[in-house]
Parts: sequence; C-alpha cells; structure tokens
Amino acid sequence: MTQDYGLGIWGDSNFIIENGKVCLNTQSKPAIIDLVENIRSQGYRGPLLLRFPHLIQKQIESLYSSFKQARDEIDYGGSFNAVYPLKVNQYPGFVKNLTELGEPYNYGLEAGSKAELLLAMVYVKLGSPITVNGFKDRELINMGFIASEMGHNITITIEGLDELESIIHTAKERFAPKPNIGLRIRLHSVGSGIWAKSGGINSKFGLTATELIEAVHLLKQSNLIEYFTMIHFHIGSQISEINSLKKALNEAGNIYAELRKMGAKNLKAINLGGGLAIEYSQFKGHQDRNYTLKEYANDVVFVLQGISKQKNEPEPDIFVESGRYISASHAVLVAPVLELFSQEYTESKLNLKDQNPPLVSELYDLYKSIKSSTAIEYLHDAISHLDSILTLFDLGYVDLQDRSNSEILAHLIVKKAIFLLGNSEYSDLLKIQSEIQERYLVNFSIFQSLPDFWGIKQNFPIMPLHKLDQRPTLSASIWDITCDSDGEISFDATKNPLFLHDVDVEKEPYFLGFFLVGAYQEVLGMKHNLFTHPTEATIKISNDGKFEITNILESQTILDILDDLDYNIVEIRDMLAERIENSVLVDEKQKKHILGELYLFLNDNGYLKTVR
Ligand SMILES: *Cc1c(COP(=O)(O)O)cnc(C)c1O
Repeated sequence: MTQDYGLGIWGDSNFIIENGKVCLNTQSKPAIIDLVENIRSQGYRGPLLLRFPHLIQKQIESLYSSFKQARDEIDYGGSFNAVYPLKVNQYPGFVKNLTELGEPYNYGLEAGSKAELLLAMVYVKLGSPITVNGFKDRELINMGFIASEMGHNITITIEGLDELESIIHTAKERFAPKPNIGLRIRLHSVGSGIWAKSGGINSKFGLTATELIEAVHLLKQSNLIEYFTMIHFHIGSQISEINSLKKALNEAGNIYAELRKMGAKNLKAINLGGGLAIEYSQFKGHQDRNYTLKEYANDVVFVLQGISKQKNEPEPDIFVESGRYISASHAVLVAPVLELFSQEYTESKLNLKDQNPPLVSELYDLYKSIKSSTAIEYLHDAISHLDSILTLFDLGYVDLQDRSNSEILAHLIVKKAIFLLGNSEYSDLLKIQSEIQERYLVNFSIFQSLPDFWGIKQNFPIMPLHKLDQRPTLSASIWDITCDSDGEISFDATKNPLFLHDVDVEKEPYFLGFFLVGAYQEVLGMKHNLFTHPTEATIKISNDGKFEITNILESQTILDILDDLDYNIVEIRDMLAERIENSVLVDEKQKKHILGELYLFLNDNGYLKTVR
C-alpha cells in the first residue's frame, strides 16, 4: 500500500507521482525533490519557497475559459473581467508574473491601501482595470484621481457616504479625466465559512439601501452620476457553499436594476469580489467546498441574466476579484526534516544492570520475543509497563538508568511491532498508531510560512516529496523550529493520521512539501523568533517542457532582520567588537578570528543549517 496524500482531492492535476517522487505534471515532469537538490547544491539551506508561474497561468486561463463558456452557452450580453486583490500576495515574485501572464486578458489589480494602489499604478497595463476598496482618506482618493489622469481605467469603490463626499470634493479640484465610481452594497444575505464577516447586514463594509438612494441623489446633484459604473460586494473568502453566493447575486442583481431605474444610466457592472474557494483538504470526506469553478461561472451568468430579463435591463458586465483561487497553488514550501524524536532510542544506548526491576526485565523479554502474531498485544503491554515505570520513578522506587532503559525498550518494541505489521492490514497499523505519534522536527517556522494554520486552523496539504514508492509507517505530528508550543501541526491519529516514512535523517535527507501556500501566507507571515521569509526560487517551464530555476532570493540576513526592527546595526557591530576586545582573551589573533566568525553569522540567514 502506498499513499497519495490526497493528491487526487487537492492536487487539481498539478502534480503526479512518478518513481516515488512528486513531479510537476508538465511535459518533462521534473521531480520537485530534484529541483530542491539543484538549488541546495548552490549552497542554500533551510526552507525553500518554490514558485511555479505556469500554475498562475493555468488558474487565469481556467477562470476566463469557464466564464467564456458559461456566457456563450446562454448568450450572455455582458463582458467578463478579473482583477487580482493585492492583499492576497503582494510579493514581486508573484505580482510580476501575474501582471505579465495576465496581460493578454487585460487582467487588472485591486488595491486596498495607498501602498497597494501605488503598486497597481505601476504594474497594471494602461486600460486594464484597477479597483480600489477599503477605507479611504482624501489622500487615497486623490491618488485614485492621479491614476485616472495617468490614463488608468480605475474604479474607486465607496464604502460609505463620507467617502462619496470626499470624492465630490476632490472632483472639483482635480483635472479631467476622472476615475469611475463604484458603490459597495451591504447585503442582507451572508456568506459562509470563517470569513463571513465581510458580508451581511452587520458587515464592516458597504452602503445600506437608504444610503444607496442617498448616494445616487448626491451623485446626480454634483453631476457625477455618469461616473457611477459599478456596484460591488464581497461576501468573504473561501466560500464553502455556492448557495450563499447565489443569494448574494440575487440581491445584488436586483439592486443593480433598481439603481439603473433611478437614473444611474452608466451603471453597467457588478463586481462579485473574491471568495472563489480552493480545495485544501487531503482527507476524504472533509472537502472545503461544494462546487466547481464551472458551476460558479454558470450560476453567476444564469442568475444575472434572469434578473436582467425580468427587470428589462441590460445584462451587467461581470468583475471578479479572486485572490485565493488565482494564487494559492503557485507556491510550494519545501522543508527538510531535521530529526525524528524517537530516533535517539537505539539498542546501543541500552545499559541494563545485572539486576533490573522486574518491569524492565519484562520489557526486555517482550522486545526479544515479539512476533507478528503477538505484536499488538506486546505493544499494549509495553506502553502500560512504561507508564508504570514512570510512576515508580516519580515515587522514587526506580532510578534514572532504569527509566532510560524502559523508555528505550518501549520505543524499540513500538518500532519492531510496526515493522512486523508492515504488510498487514492498514487498520491494524492504524490501531497502534492511534496510541503513538512520531514527532518530526522540520526546518521551518509555522508562524512565518503557514500563519493561517496558527491563526485560524487552516489546513494545508502536506506530503513527503520522495520515497512515495515505500510504505510510510509512522503516524506523524510536525514540529517547527520556533520555541513556541503552538509551532506544531498535529493530526487526529484515529481519524485522519498523516503517515510519514521512518528515515534516519543522519544518513539520508527527507523533505516535506507544504502545498497551496501561495495565497495570504507570505505577507501574513510573522517573524516569530526572528525567522524570516524563506529563501525563494521561481521555476519557469518553457513551451518545450524544459524547466529553468530563476530569481533565487535568499532569506534575509540576521543584520537585515535586526535592521527591520530598527536596531542600530552599527551599534550592534561595535558592541560585539568592543566585548571581544575587552574579553579575557589575550591573543589578538584569536580575537580577530572570533570577530570574523560573528560577522559571518550576522551576514547569514537565521534558519538552521544542517548538512541535510
Ligand atoms: C480579500 C478580498 C478579496 C479576495 O478574496 P479571495 O477569497 O482571496 O478571492 C476580494 N475582494 C475584496 C474586497 C477583498 O477584501
């Protein structure tokens, strides 16, 4: 029995397993582990973030082709447009690929702050859409006007009437052309999933029915109604049930028609925001969403066409702001396993006495005589014996050596039992593993690289990148290298265990891949323990199937990290030099040597650098 770690559920045909390795599902099928070895052979250590632009391209294409197909099928009159919400991933390694690959589609960007708007003004092709959401001050609105004066096709979406007043005021002072105006509507229908707070009547954002009517009056009064072109909503990220989107669309479609009837003659677009979900689950029966992109696209055009016909209004242009869907799959985090905690328990470390306490002797007999037929029984005995020994130790009846021998023997029995049951039914193995989990220490930081796991218990698919032609025998929990007890990914050992391989990492390397980390994780990542954004590399696949490793960007150096925290770098260097100078050392050569060592550390990144 081998495992595919749910690749068929979350993988979307992006990867395949060949010769025991996870490979890109492209013409030449490079194995991820070989790419990693290539990068590491250039001296890079620690975790690696790999970017795959061909997977960005795939998502863009599938989004456009699904909507094209859906529109063609029912002869939908409005156009389809997409903008990428920068908040989901603002890193240049992603954004530059997106804008380049999106150019043939007039792909735009969505900005939610001044910094993001500036990025959009630089990287969006003139004419492709820019939308601006979120709370705005006069300065941000002014920047929106500058973008349109530059020639950008920009829509500023108003979240409240005060913002509309700022726009009216600014419009009087600025030049032509002017940005388009969007209104964010407050829906009474709510989204689903953890992020549902973005929608609904108590939402942080959007205009109520009363405010919408007032906004149209204000726009008419100030002669700006011709610039009002779009209504916008966003019911939350990772929409798990398609029904909540349909409800929101029905409401938005009717608002669109009503506002047009009130005289908003240039209102021609509905912006659905983001929320298109992706499948993160690697376990059967735990799927995150109940719909496909095809169904999403079909529902959107069908609902909007129905309302338009009923209310006799033109079918609106459709805008989406999908972030997660476009970017999640493009990035894979690869991290080396540093240690299996139980590996310190070897027979050579046993130090039995001439006279051992009976429980220890018994453990030794169990270890020597265990067979397949007795494996499970002995395993249970071993666990309960160890438990008793630990109690005896607490009461002072056995000594530290007895305890050490017992711990070693119990672990050896577990290992032997797993080995003996290696070819038996999975359910037997499961039974043992529900009692014992192996802890894998992995060279990465959960806080930096999977912050949503820490913050909102979002799961990401995890699997070894190699050895997939061998049966994994250890039910695992994953520990990162921060010294925080939250730095652990545990798995329900009875329901959804993650089985990993029993490897001696001193002898051979073992790498884990963390998939679908391209959305939200990078910029939300925290520098807990001062571990920074990992070393990254971009893997470009050319048309003939060849791959090229480009843009290797090493993780920040320790000096840069400290600089980011506003430490005075010069002071830090001087203090170190001064302390060495005034130390007990007398030999000038030794002092120089030590200082040299320290400076090397300062200019290196802070992840663990083991050979493996
Ligand atoms: C966050 C956000 C998005 C992106 O949502 P995804 O679920 O990542 O697609 C789109 N629009 C707005 C207004 C947002 O706040």
